[in-house]
Amino acid sequence: MNLHNGQLFWPSTYTDEIQYQSLEENISCDVLIVGGGMSGALCGYTLGKETELDVVIIDRRKPGYGSSSATTGLFQFSCDKMLHELIEQKGEQDAVYFYQLCQNALENLKKIAENLSDDPEFREQKSLYYASTAEDADKLVREYEALKKYDFPVEYLEPQEIASRFPFSKPAALVTSGAADVNPYKFVQFLLKDAKDAGVRMYEETPLLRKTKTVHGFTCESENGTIQARYIIFATGYENDFLVQQLGAELKRSYAIATEPLPSLKTCYKEWMIWETKRPYLYMRTTKDGRIIAGGLDEDQPEAPLNDGIIEERGERIVQKIMEHLPDLSPVTSHSWCATFGESHDGLPYIGEHPNRLGEYYCLGFGGNGTVYSMLGAEVIKDLITKGFHPASRLFTIARAVSL
Ligand SMILES: Cc1cc2nc3c(=O)[nH]c(=O)nc-3n(C[C@H](O)[C@H](O)[C@H](O)COP(=O)(O)OP(=O)(O)OC[C@H]3O[C@@H](n4cnc5c(N)ncnc54)[C@H](O)[C@@H]3O)c2cc1C
Repeated sequence: MNLHNGQLFWPSTYTDEIQYQSLEENISCDVLIVGGGMSGALCGYTLGKETELDVVIIDRRKPGYGSSSATTGLFQFSCDKMLHELIEQKGEQDAVYFYQLCQNALENLKKIAENLSDDPEFREQKSLYYASTAEDADKLVREYEALKKYDFPVEYLEPQEIASRFPFSKPAALVTSGAADVNPYKFVQFLLKDAKDAGVRMYEETPLLRKTKTVHGFTCESENGTIQARYIIFATGYENDFLVQQLGAELKRSYAIATEPLPSLKTCYKEWMIWETKRPYLYMRTTKDGRIIAGGLDEDQPEAPLNDGIIEERGERIVQKIMEHLPDLSPVTSHSWCATFGESHDGLPYIGEHPNRLGEYYCLGFGGNGTVYSMLGAEVIKDLITKGFHPASRLFTIARAVSL
């Protein structure tokens, strides 16, 4: 599957990646992680650093070149589904627990980023979530009340308060603290490097072709070698069409751009990420070197267009939207790309053991908060493998999927 097309920004920021070998022999391990993107790297890092398990990661591409090279690298506890909406869907207890889990996962991402041997450009940010229409202002009032009731760090802004901080006004907005951004490509590469230093073996250009259940686990076949593993973690992202269909997930495509560094980018904008209540939403962040990265314009097709002209045209539309918000800037696009994006049927990730195939675990962080979910998945799966239990696993069980 073609996970993205166009000019990706993040891989251009780091070219000293470790070149991993592909698998050319038969090996064994305790845990085989299939996929070396954000999910596989976080699982590998967590298991490598926090357990005695012998871990191997394989990727059919170079690690980090899947969807994780196309993400915009925003982390926050607020999800595409607002807390008050999730309360209606899942009940108060589970919805609030889920938001708290996301908040904890953010804290874990921060700790990991701070402890990596290289700098992944992790920055704590404030999130401005504005009402796109006057009707949506009511939703933000309900959301403010739900977040406030459970002590999430939130502030409600009236139109004049928004206008006093930004060169635009909107009917209402929420400000939440504790959000963050990162260079996701560096993050994945440094996670894998430190996992390797902790003993995790990584093989690139090594596709999983077949797996067979054995008495002690699995025999996993690649092109030039096999891996005997007690457990498998599938961190295969949006790619596994068959699995995605079984799970009832929806694949779309989403566009993003990076601008050239903007000398006039005010320091005050640099500490914000901005998004909105409209669906699909426009969102914006900055980078350490003063660029704006923005995305949106989701479409219902699963794969990026092969025609670069379409991607560039959508990119120009995103730049127009940046200028509507920040008219004091004159952004020039340096990169524009389009990538596949997956959403689960209920907005929650699929994490945990397959209900009918014991020993097979899934870390599929579908949704706009994919990285936060990947972190959550790494923690949940570590506990499921080492302790046989994690209190959150019932929320994310893949058994809730429509047709397994
Ligand atoms: C435009 C866009 C913007 C986004 N912005 C954000 C954001 O701001 N914040 C956020 O949290 N999330 C965001 N996301 C979502 C985010 O990109 C995903 O959550 C994340 O990249 C998923 O990581 P992953 O490791 O699960 O998947 P991937 O990075 O795709 O990794 C999966 C890996 O598995 C490998 N693989 C698959 N099948 C096999 C096989 N059979 N054998 C071997 N290897 C295999 C693939 O080669 C791939 O490298 C965004 C997504 C898009 C498209």
